[in-house]
Amino acid sequence: AKYDGRNTYKFYTEDMTEKAFERLALESNLRQAIQDESFMLYFQPQIDGERDRIIGMEALIRWKDKNGEFIPPDKFIPIAEETRLIVPLGEWILRTGMQQMVQWYAKGLNPGKLAINLSMLQLQKHDFVSMLKSMLKETKCQPNWLEIEVTESQIMQKPEQTILTLQMISKLGIGISVDDFGTGYSSLSYLNRFPIDTLKIDQSFINGIPDNMENAAIIQAVIALAKTLNLDVIAEGVETEEQKTFLMNNGCHSIQGYLYARPMPSDKMEKLLKEAL
Ligand code: C2E
Ligand code: CA
Ligand code: CA
Ligand code: CA
Repeated sequence: AKYDGRNTYKFYTEDMTEKAFERLALESNLRQAIQDESFMLYFQPQIDGERDRIIGMEALIRWKDKNGEFIPPDKFIPIAEETRLIVPLGEWILRTGMQQMVQWYAKGLNPGKLAINLSMLQLQKHDFVSMLKSMLKETKCQPNWLEIEVTESQIMQKPEQTILTLQMISKLGIGISVDDFGTGYSSLSYLNRFPIDTLKIDQSFINGIPDNMENAAIIQAVIALAKTLNLDVIAEGVETEEQKTFLMNNGCHSIQGYLYARPMPSDKMEKLLKEAL
């Protein structure tokens, strides 16, 4: 029994060591990647389902490693947050997104609004708003071309502080969208105090509708909530016609998902924008 125990323990530590090494390697590669700027912004269109027109897009980061393989953001964003590398990386994402919008508008295209995901660590930096301001000036990007996305669970971590920062961002003219909505625990009275423009229904609820009655009910409730608070509502992760029909019938006309398009590099997105003219 003693022998077994030691063996188990040994396996356990080896496994832990391997994980720690893997994480360390990923962190150091991430550091290098930020220096080399080996990231790309992909864009996924958001559609007005009634008129089948592009109303905006979401910026989604992609990391191509040295072997040319994509490392999914779900794998490296958490490490970028733990190591605070998300701060410089997030600035790169913002600047690249702004520059891209300026280019597209200068070409006479109609990209609508660009939704950019923010990490709470970026938002919590004391100079975040002034950084945003000077970046807008530097890139000549108009604030109303942008919307920031913050997840519901992130804003609920430090709600009081977040309200103040979001108010300043909202005053700049940038839209504010609550990502993954429905998965957190915000109360109606609380929500009302945030300068929010859009609720983004989490894709886990879209999965399985219209058959999943529970998810269908949650979606209907979120749409009703948005109406009551006078907010826009958008659904993401829409993959099928049935899902789109359900959403449209229930009053959610803004749709993002594989049904229309997967996230794509800027040149592909630009082609799409040209076709839409
Ligand atoms: P998110 O913000 O909720 O982004 C939506 C994710 O759903 C994206 O995954 C997108 O590619 C995927 N998606 C879009 N339509 C569909 C669909 O119809 N079906 C399914 N199954 N998936 C769909 P992605 O690009 O892998 O990003 C994953 C997460 O990583 C994001 O979730 C976000 O939390 C984070 N992330 C991505 N880009 C950035 C970024 O630039 N900054 C920050 N801070 N986080 C980012
Ligand atoms: Ca998002
Ligand atoms: Ca989301
Ligand atoms: Ca969402």
